[in-house]
Amino acid sequence: MTPRLDRRRLLQMFGGTAVLAAGGPVLGQTLFSDYPFSLGVASGEPTADGFVIWTRLAPSPLEIGGGMVMQPVPVSWEVASDEAFRTKVAEGTEAARPELGHSVHVEVSGLQPARPYWYRFSVGRERSGAGVARTTVRAGQPLRRVRLAAAGCQHYEAGLYTAYRHLSEEDDLDFVFHYGDYIYEGRGAAASRSREGVTTATSRRHLGQELYSLDDYRRRYAQTRTDLDLQAAHAAAPWFVTFDDHEVDNNWAADVEQDGAPVDAFRLRRAMAWQAWWENMPVRRAMLPTLGRIAMHRRAQFGDLMTANFMDTRQYRSDQPCGDGFRPTCPGATAPAATMLGAEQERWLFDDLGRRGPRWNLLAQQVMVTRLDRRRSQDTEAEPILNIDSWAGYEAPRRRLLKRAARHGSTVILTGDEHQNFANEATDQDGRIAATEFVATSISSGGDGRDLRAGTEAMLARNPNCKLINDQRGYLVCEVTPERWRTDFRVVDRITTPGGAISTRASFAVAPGRPGLQAA
Ligand code: FE
Ligand code: CA
Repeated sequence: MTPRLDRRRLLQMFGGTAVLAAGGPVLGQTLFSDYPFSLGVASGEPTADGFVIWTRLAPSPLEIGGGMVMQPVPVSWEVASDEAFRTKVAEGTEAARPELGHSVHVEVSGLQPARPYWYRFSVGRERSGAGVARTTVRAGQPLRRVRLAAAGCQHYEAGLYTAYRHLSEEDDLDFVFHYGDYIYEGRGAAASRSREGVTTATSRRHLGQELYSLDDYRRRYAQTRTDLDLQAAHAAAPWFVTFDDHEVDNNWAADVEQDGAPVDAFRLRRAMAWQAWWENMPVRRAMLPTLGRIAMHRRAQFGDLMTANFMDTRQYRSDQPCGDGFRPTCPGATAPAATMLGAEQERWLFDDLGRRGPRWNLLAQQVMVTRLDRRRSQDTEAEPILNIDSWAGYEAPRRRLLKRAARHGSTVILTGDEHQNFANEATDQDGRIAATEFVATSISSGGDGRDLRAGTEAMLARNPNCKLINDQRGYLVCEVTPERWRTDFRVVDRITTPGGAISTRASFAVAPGRPGLQAA
């Protein structure tokens, strides 16, 4: 529905200089103190006949309210089959509403499968940059190749988004999977000291303090989104975004906040965090948070080649056992009643894993599934150290997941959260390889990094099912064909100063029906 603007009210507000075009209310340039598309454009949720296109009007992105008039503002959008917008295939007007941070989400449909489309927005005399999206191939139809990237963990204060600039230049990406930590809710110190004792000034500081209110979260997204490397990555391909912990608060689990906030207070904070997340992400209306819940897990089909399951490992999980953190196991980590996905999502996932579907099944999710012993050096701790916030702290649901994954035979897991790269063979309790897991590092979290953290060789020696550990920043590029799955670990050499160069640190292949890592 197109909102009707009160003409007389507008003329009062803008001294009669607002341009009201014939045929409908179009606002003139005078509405904005500055360029309203300061946060760029994005697309997401591609299907065989469309996708979501997104923008958010914010002439003063770092101000409360974004510099916008607190009214619905009609924004025009267009989709074309060519880069020059000569052949328009869809167009319309959508309201940027103050209730939703003046964001615009358009669910474009009726397009042709398996081809690129260009899109852009305009309001008054202002026009956004163009983005490119790509439709998929209908479920069951023949498909020879999908190329995707996996990225996330983009702590704004930890360094530049150089990796996103390189990601935006990757060839023929069908989509980008974002595994969460799009924002971080805290605020760091003005300078930090590394393990080696080197003090570095924080180059980009978060505005404000820790995030609690809707406007706090909105401003953090705006600050993050003003980054032009990030905008380039959004404009280059459609994304499937998920969230992890830092979009709300560190290591939250369902209704439990780790510093002991009362459940009812935390739920209110979480609702505001999710609203700001929704406003700033190219996702469908169906994902708008409602009554304190958000329906984030979803599935996408790529012809006869791949099913992608985008999972939610935060909202329904039981509280981390053993007091969370990196520590030896405890009885809670093997509790049969523990859950990572919640009963409904687990059933939804397992039903699909049990079905004879496309060749590959992608589990696109947030925290590591493979159980690794985290002891890093030849140290004296008698017991294995686990990352309790990962699936290793949830052994019963982890075993259920791997059993279903093994039955499918061609399950590939893409994961984030660790701020390091890992290539893992996820083994079941009998030591059989059930699935292949690629853990993507971070875009910026952790700073420059280096190839190996101290003690990494010892950790590799303790975990024969782990074939790669690397502590540089970057993202994954996966090329999926009927014959094999190939993953490239793309890393940048630095992010604390501009101009970091990209290279491929390692590549692995997976054969269909044979989980495990092979040379690529
Ligand atoms: Fe992170
Ligand atoms: Ca995380």
